[in-house]
Amino acid sequence: MSETSPKLRAELDGVPAYVPGKPASTDGPVAFKLSSNENPYPPLPGVMESVLSAAAAFNRYPDMACTGLMNELADRFGVPVSHLATGTGSVGVAQQLLQATSGPGDEVIYAWRSFEAYPIITQISGATSVKVPLTSGEVHDLDAMAGAVTDRTRMIFVCNPNNPTGTVVRRAELERFLDRVPDDVLVVLDEAYKEFIRDADVPDGIEIYRDRPNVAVLRTFSKAYGLAGLRVGFAVAHEPVAAALRKTAVPFGVSQVAQDAAVASLRAEDELLGRVGSLVGERSRVFDGLVRQGWTVPESQANFVWLRLGDRTLDFAGVCERAGVVVRPFAGEGVRVTIGEAEANDVFLKVAESFRQEL
Ligand SMILES: *Cc1c(COP(=O)(O)O)cnc(C)c1O
Repeated sequence: MSETSPKLRAELDGVPAYVPGKPASTDGPVAFKLSSNENPYPPLPGVMESVLSAAAAFNRYPDMACTGLMNELADRFGVPVSHLATGTGSVGVAQQLLQATSGPGDEVIYAWRSFEAYPIITQISGATSVKVPLTSGEVHDLDAMAGAVTDRTRMIFVCNPNNPTGTVVRRAELERFLDRVPDDVLVVLDEAYKEFIRDADVPDGIEIYRDRPNVAVLRTFSKAYGLAGLRVGFAVAHEPVAAALRKTAVPFGVSQVAQDAAVASLRAEDELLGRVGSLVGERSRVFDGLVRQGWTVPESQANFVWLRLGDRTLDFAGVCERAGVVVRPFAGEGVRVTIGEAEANDVFLKVAESFRQEL
């Protein structure tokens, strides 16, 4: 056997592995998974029915154009079908955007810390990441991000609210930023947690994109709609960008099960958004509880909270796990804790309280 391996692209060297949220452990106390920002509610019966019925035909390829879902989205958001593109989760769509815009020698700007998929998919594209630190308030530093634009910049991610800090950028500052970015640089508004926002000054990306051809909006069914396991997300963008997304899509990437579940979820939106409302209520309860315990917590507009624990991060995550809640540590920085069912949040608050007292 030869020792030589096939030639692989040098860009793959050192690509960090995506760290999935740890599953809840099956032994020990009742375990809750608060590590992946998933929706804790089980599928709605009606959505389940559409999934089972689509599953009965999985010997067939899905509708490649996602016709039913595209029409439903076009109606729901008041955009032409030609401005829509679906993909295998919004991470899949983000990867397609990079494939469409960026390669070796190009630069992609994003805040840091932000969504951990950004460095991975940027490096795979061959482009160079330009990470702009969050402000001391854990918010995107949009002035610094605009200042980081060069002739080589092809794409900028704005994660709003930001994962893992939950912080937002508001309308006026975002508009000011977009006015500064050159028209030929694509700005991607990643709105994975849009439905959890209650701050009226946070703009809806789909309103912002309408008169800005260099803005694309990413949305997902994974979080508020509870379809994380089915892999379906979408972009809203002007025609050249949406067309490029259709070219870069994996053929038949979005299964019929996912397409039908997404349509059923849009039709059950009232009920699903009611669940989001309950989670937002729990978010306030957890936030208030933490503040009362003496923690400094950035105000979150998403379905998680962020505790900057520095070198105590892994300690804290370990204590949480032993108490039955699995959280998401970023070693040396902090812990992101998903808002779950009330019982899970209670366990987390209790652990946070005793940890706080020992600090
Ligand atoms: C969860 C998340 C996504 C969506 O992921 P899917 O691929 O749609 O499951 C996108 N962006 C951010 C910032 C996220 O946290």
